[in-house]
Amino acid sequence: MPDIEKNTTYYDIAIIGGGIQGVGVAQAAAAAGYSVAVFEQTAIASATSSKSSKLIHGGLRYLESGQFKLVRKSLLERERLIKLAPGLVKPVAFYIPIYKQTSRPAWQIGIGLFLYRILGSFKKYTQFKRIRVSKRKMLPIKGLLSNDLKTVYQYYDAQTDDRLLTQAVMHSAQSLGAILYCPAKVTQLDFKEGCYHIQTKGMSSVPDVIAATFVVNVSGPWANDVLARITGTPVETMEYDLVQGTHIVLDAAAPEGVIYVEAPEDQRAVFIMPWKNKTLVGTTEKVYTGDPARVTATEGEIEYLKKIYSYYMPQQKVNVTDTFAGVRVLPKLESSLFSRPRDTLLHDSAKNLLTLYGGKLTSYRATAEQVLAKIETQLPARKPGKKKSTRNIHLV
Ligand SMILES: Cc1cc2nc3c(=O)[nH]c(=O)nc-3n(C[C@H](O)[C@H](O)[C@H](O)COP(=O)(O)OP(=O)(O)OC[C@H]3O[C@@H](n4cnc5c(N)ncnc54)[C@H](O)[C@@H]3O)c2cc1C
Repeated sequence: MPDIEKNTTYYDIAIIGGGIQGVGVAQAAAAAGYSVAVFEQTAIASATSSKSSKLIHGGLRYLESGQFKLVRKSLLERERLIKLAPGLVKPVAFYIPIYKQTSRPAWQIGIGLFLYRILGSFKKYTQFKRIRVSKRKMLPIKGLLSNDLKTVYQYYDAQTDDRLLTQAVMHSAQSLGAILYCPAKVTQLDFKEGCYHIQTKGMSSVPDVIAATFVVNVSGPWANDVLARITGTPVETMEYDLVQGTHIVLDAAAPEGVIYVEAPEDQRAVFIMPWKNKTLVGTTEKVYTGDPARVTATEGEIEYLKKIYSYYMPQQKVNVTDTFAGVRVLPKLESSLFSRPRDTLLHDSAKNLLTLYGGKLTSYRATAEQVLAKIETQLPARKPGKKKSTRNIHLV
């Protein structure tokens, strides 16, 4: 521990942000024997981590943009989370209907699914099949558009409740000794005498003086806003776009699995999913420039998603009961939003401070392991004998 004043509450690691990435790092660091504090300005999972598509998946569509490493990591994590959190992460059947007008031919989907199986090491939920559609045979999904339907592929991924998963990981971190300050917005990080002195706003019971040797900035869409609050050491930032994604909830009987369709308008991949006995449809992708806390579904996005649903489920009524929107953090590149890397970027932003940009809900645990391996040499010695791996910690 650095030489610090007596009235200072000291932690080895301060984590800014209580989304899935923040609580994941908190769990891994506490399990490894470090003293850890998480600062969350609103509530655990209040931002992107409760606005996702709620899929724990390899990401079949990332194969198209060549992100094989991410797909493999995510498939292995999917397998692990199904075992570690069976009450929270559940396998679900996915259906890809191929019509005469579908832009990706059946053989291409078949090759993609075979590659998905290879990258998932042929484990339990990597099997897939092609269901040939005939007039006499029932469609695998009730109410699915049958005109010009040629074939349907069926494979597996998993679904979760993203908010509950994030809360469960936070509880696990707390049971391992992590401290949560919430609501506590970090307003200043002053680097002096080898550690960060942290100031917060929002919670009366936060100690007056808090210091930490290392800071992990996992504030998602606010990453560069947090970096702008650092004094006492040079700071480097990475440029990124915020990309809004909206979902609509329909008061329609939940489909028997996730239907993975192609938007007729622009051939984007969209999911029609069962969600709490209703139907969830998403998502969209458009650059967002406002305050991340104020992102909401636009009329245009709602209409776009409603149109896709009624195209593929022509007999169902379209009654929207809820909408939600979140923002992804994608590196600023020339390429299309679709093809930008979706893996987490670990960025050395300042002395003893690491920023996580982007990433997936699915791979939070592996990312946290990567973070610890990267920062270990910059941390103080751990409490002796206290070392656990999150690979074996069950979540409830
Ligand atoms: C539309 C959409 C769909 C997605 N679908 C999937 C999916 O199906 N599967 C999947 O694996 N991934 C999915 N993702 C990606 C996944 O949701 C995100 O990668 C993940 O939730 C990001 O988590 P995070 O912890 O980085 O950020 P967040 O969840 O946004 O957390 C950041 C936290 O930091 C806090 N914070 C910010 N500033 C401060 C401060 N100064 N002081 C204290 N706290 C602060 C915020 O309040 C917030 O709670 C999706 C993303 C989007 C946008």
